[in-house]
Amino acid sequence: MAAPEDGAGSALGRALSLVGPAAVLEVGGGCGARAEVRVLVINTGGTIGMVPQSQGLAPEANKLAGALKKIRSLHDKAYAKETKLFSRLGLGGDTLVLPLSSQNKRIIYTIQELSPLLDSSNMTPADWGKIARHLQANYAKYDGFVILHGTDTMAYTASALSFMCENLGKTIVLTGAQVPIYELRNDGRANLLGALLIAGQFVIPEVCLYFYNKLYRGNRVTKVDAESFNAFSSPNLPPLANTEVDITINWETVWRANTTKKFEVHTNMNSNVGLLRIFPGITAAAVKAFLQSPMEGVVLETYGSGNAPNNRPDLLDELKKATDNSVVILNCTQCLRGTVSLVYATGKTLMDAGVIPGADMTPEAALAKLSYVLGKPGLSLAEKRRMLSENLRGEMTVVPIGSQITLKDSKFIQGIAKYLYVSCKEELAAVRDALTPALACAAAKASDLDALKVLQNMGGNLSSGDYDGRSPLHVASCEGNLEIVEHLLMSGATVYAKDRFGATPLLNAIKFRHKDVICLLRKTGAHLSSQELMNIGTELCSLASNGDTDGLRAWHLAGVDLTQPGYDGNTPYNIAKAAGHAEVIEFFQSNGLLSS
Ligand code: ASP
Repeated sequence: MAAPEDGAGSALGRALSLVGPAAVLEVGGGCGARAEVRVLVINTGGTIGMVPQSQGLAPEANKLAGALKKIRSLHDKAYAKETKLFSRLGLGGDTLVLPLSSQNKRIIYTIQELSPLLDSSNMTPADWGKIARHLQANYAKYDGFVILHGTDTMAYTASALSFMCENLGKTIVLTGAQVPIYELRNDGRANLLGALLIAGQFVIPEVCLYFYNKLYRGNRVTKVDAESFNAFSSPNLPPLANTEVDITINWETVWRANTTKKFEVHTNMNSNVGLLRIFPGITAAAVKAFLQSPMEGVVLETYGSGNAPNNRPDLLDELKKATDNSVVILNCTQCLRGTVSLVYATGKTLMDAGVIPGADMTPEAALAKLSYVLGKPGLSLAEKRRMLSENLRGEMTVVPIGSQITLKDSKFIQGIAKYLYVSCKEELAAVRDALTPALACAAAKASDLDALKVLQNMGGNLSSGDYDGRSPLHVASCEGNLEIVEHLLMSGATVYAKDRFGATPLLNAIKFRHKDVICLLRKTGAHLSSQELMNIGTELCSLASNGDTDGLRAWHLAGVDLTQPGYDGNTPYNIAKAAGHAEVIEFFQSNGLLSS
């Protein structure tokens, strides 16, 4: 089937200028070499390059480059000839050049085919290794990389490569098509063109997936449609780029390796991993069989927010036995969107069985991560478990989706608390202890009882003070939330804690006039220290002179003697009388506080 000529009418066509070589020489200056970039296209197979055969569509080797050369938007023959591209760069017939892009770049791309070309349903981790080694071998020679791949398992390969490519500094884009590029109506050309323009013009140092005008993080996608051109979805992360009228990169979303280490690929993936989807009535025998040796890592696909039945001791027992036996189990939701959390007791039960919450990872990403982490030599089980709960390549969100990072927001506090809890306890104890006071104070400020409970469940000490020695009880006493104060007291918080200014929670409650909190603290044995009572007479006189009955009542409830004179020997009662504050006078009289 001959490839028809293609114009520049599409949206992506606008990112290219279909101009002749003369104009190019002007823009590029001289032979235009300064504006030339090199992209390697690794063709692994997939529908994009398939042709009908007796058994149905199948890839055909050594056909793609020749066909693409006939498509104007994918090859600028005139430029190649005029600039003696092939002889100048010593390139063969599998190299093509795009028309000048709107950013004045000449994207020269070379297509290399892996053998055999595969329907991606036939791919295995060995093929991921082959692609990774090919990337490594060519890494220095090209500015960016495009991988042509079947859509069926593209999300798995993209996820796997994202972990296998360590310290990545260049753009890698996987793409493919739902309809072969040789058909009259197809999505392959637009997908290939978009992928080339991104890989050739932008440094997005991630393994990405480009499809139907969107660039996604590779380990965030899943194939959701077998019939639409819009085949992929990234349910928990917005696209990295949109190629509409303009190409818009969402730079703030782009993940970076933040390292000074060199790019390298890790190809030793562990094959003893699997996906286990729970369903109502799943038998313990089936779970047991699945978790048998040589299984080393399992992605448990659970309901909703990461829930599994907690009324099935037989099932939980099998999971617990497996984790005790060093099988690593990662909890991912069966839902397309959302995250594993501790909202439900049914989710918490799994954690008690040693299952690691996988946040909002896709099952594809979780499986690839397990295979990668379990394939790393020389790591202890604790280190592997820790790596699995860490965000290694932007594959998971570590704070609840959509939450603002602010200590005023209880969701954030809960998110951090849960995140710490999920990780290996021993290794995170130090971090937890350092963060607990600040998080607990923030939770007390936000009156977030749930967050306090989460912190407590993870072993955090709710009595410890922050950098100013202020304990959650200090903060709660300022806020006046009786429920929180009560919870803290019931959890062992001390009423005698003093902050760096020498203040106790009781003094804080008096200052903010929270009478019910004052009473509760007093009931628990709280009293003011001599330091706090220094100059108390003067303070009381000042309240009396201002007619502040409420303030005086707070001190009275705290057990302070209101007859004490100020610095000049005058009592608060006499001052109130002199000032004519009837309400204050009445307060002193009815409480028998007339003289010392
Ligand atoms: N079966 C094909 C493959 O995954 C589907 C496609 O490429 O769209 O290779």
